[in-house]
Amino acid sequence: MISALRGQCPGPLDERAGVADSSGVTTAEHVAPGVRLIALPLPLALKVVNVYLVEGDRGWTLVDTGLHTPEAERALRTGLAATGVGMADLQRVFVTHLHPDHLGMAGTLRAVGAEIVMHRPELAMARGIWAADHHLIDATYTWFERHGMPPDVDLGMRAAWIAMADGVDPFEPVRTVEDGGAVDLGGRTATAIWTPGHTDHHAVLFEAATATLFAGDHVLPRITSNVGLYPYSRDDPLGDFLAALEKMKTLGVKRVLPAHGDPFDDCHGRVDEILAHHATRLEDTLAAIGPGRDAYAICRTLFPRLRSAHEERFALAETLAHLRYLERRGTVRASSGRPVRWNVISGAVPGEPD
Ligand SMILES: [Zn+2]
Repeated sequence: MISALRGQCPGPLDERAGVADSSGVTTAEHVAPGVRLIALPLPLALKVVNVYLVEGDRGWTLVDTGLHTPEAERALRTGLAATGVGMADLQRVFVTHLHPDHLGMAGTLRAVGAEIVMHRPELAMARGIWAADHHLIDATYTWFERHGMPPDVDLGMRAAWIAMADGVDPFEPVRTVEDGGAVDLGGRTATAIWTPGHTDHHAVLFEAATATLFAGDHVLPRITSNVGLYPYSRDDPLGDFLAALEKMKTLGVKRVLPAHGDPFDDCHGRVDEILAHHATRLEDTLAAIGPGRDAYAICRTLFPRLRSAHEERFALAETLAHLRYLERRGTVRASSGRPVRWNVISGAVPGEPD
């Protein structure tokens, strides 16, 4: 399996490969005890996001919400109706992270009566990312310029990101939960677990009674989620992500409900594949550095085909996350100039056997 991963198209953009089986499905498919999957369309390279409808003795809960487009709202209504549920019947909505395909429709569901719940620091970051003045998006524009992104590509990146805000409802007020806190799923109890990496404060839900993991974008079946370094990120998102993957192996998960791709059972095995994928990506990053190249040049070696402004962003942020991981372990060094240039200090990838 590791060798298969080595041959895989590199990328945050392997996400395309996951487009998948559930595309177009708007019925609610039973995927775990009392849990139904509703697949919602996305107008992106990644075509579908899964939301999960949880039936409890004391009401209905939804996990994640989809990007707010007319098509997705229609698909959500259809999927709920297939179970005899209306939007106003949803008691609670848990949002795993701030990305628009997860948070997008939360405000609409709140407006018809659902309580929205998020990991506390992820809500704080959501307020920053989706702020009307776009200050974090502008900070990223400046940061990408320092890392060698051409101005026209950078401008396109900024515009495409700002355009995503159209699919995100005003989402306040939101009730917050801490890492390790309980989330009531209509009489069923799940634990919110901080799983940083894909975003700084992404959280999964684990229902111990059924050993079910509502994985958000943390553990995906055939694609790897994008892990990026941004000017406002935690210091080492890839280090965070790998540690948070290891944590999943300790929970005794028997069923994984991912936000993209089909539900699956072998959490442990899939985590090991993703860990191996990033070990390979670190080797490839090191090999691509050359003498004093900037991160954008390294990125274009790792990701030669980028087909949209969103892909440009994911690819450069992912490259920077791998460079930062290596930097923090003493393997590479960044110059202080403009653009920032990277050099290898020692050829070994930390944690890899000789
Ligand atoms: Zn995401």
